[in-house]
Amino acid sequence: MAQTDHPIAIAIHGGAGTISREAMSAERERDIRDALERAVQAGHAVLEAGGSSLDAVTAAIRILEDAPQFNAGRGSVLTEAGRVEMDASIMDGATLNAGAVASVTGLRHPIEAARRVMSDSPHVMLIGEGAEAFAAEFDLETEDPEWFITDFRREELRRIQSAEQARLSGPEPWYSTVGAVAIDRSGNLAAATSTGGMSNKRWGRVGDSPIIGAGTYANNQTCAVSATGHGEFFIRYVVAYDICARMAYTARPLAQTADEVVNQVLASAGASGGVIAIDRQGRIAMPFNTSGMYRAAIHRDGRMEVAIYRDSEDAPTAANEP
Ligand code: ASP
Repeated sequence: MAQTDHPIAIAIHGGAGTISREAMSAERERDIRDALERAVQAGHAVLEAGGSSLDAVTAAIRILEDAPQFNAGRGSVLTEAGRVEMDASIMDGATLNAGAVASVTGLRHPIEAARRVMSDSPHVMLIGEGAEAFAAEFDLETEDPEWFITDFRREELRRIQSAEQARLSGPEPWYSTVGAVAIDRSGNLAAATSTGGMSNKRWGRVGDSPIIGAGTYANNQTCAVSATGHGEFFIRYVVAYDICARMAYTARPLAQTADEVVNQVLASAGASGGVIAIDRQGRIAMPFNTSGMYRAAIHRDGRMEVAIYRDSEDAPTAANEP
């Protein structure tokens, strides 16, 4: 019988990147911290009430998708053509069931569509118009394309496109994709990720976030992981799965394993980003190789942590528990 008194815990991220305190207005920082806090508390409340880790990560991500500060749902980055094209995925660590959508427009909560793909279709990933037609069968909420677009993202796109050699210099170094990982009272792990992808993307580009194994992975035997960063590298290095696989093969602790992949494997490949991860005991690790990562957690002991920068009084550690 499933255990029902397992310690619960949840971690979320709102993206990793290079940002200085000087470049962040006090108001924006306050809004970001507030959204992170609301999202992690909403997810934790689900767990506390005996809900599943799948419901907890979905609840947290819905809040972050609606928060315009993050690159997911409303506030998603814009494509080269000034459109929003979103990707999302979710995975159940108990069954290894998973669902994902890529390049969807108009869906207010892409994570709900990914969840439906997992629970109500025989498939793992649906894209574009097909995914939207599938979502319509479940009356998932839609919004006008303009509803998703914020002035911040319009300005960001203008800046990137007008930068000399924009094409060569590559995308914005701040990735504000959102993600969540959790463990529930039955000891079941879940992971989920939602994003608008990378600013100025072209040709129907899809990153790691909707790819099971790259941006999202969960297995009750090891851990649950959600990633943020330069997606092409996370796909090539199969980052989320790699962290879970290393744990299975080496039996080393989560903090060490996640740190190794983020700060050694990815860093030496020149890939910037980070992950949030939680193991089967509910220990959380949130390593990143950039100067900051928007992140929050409610640990097994009930302690809440909300942090942005690497070096600050607000960020106890990158890998939070031994
Ligand atoms: N990983 C995402 C992508 O490549 C971007 C992000 O983390 O913000 O699409």
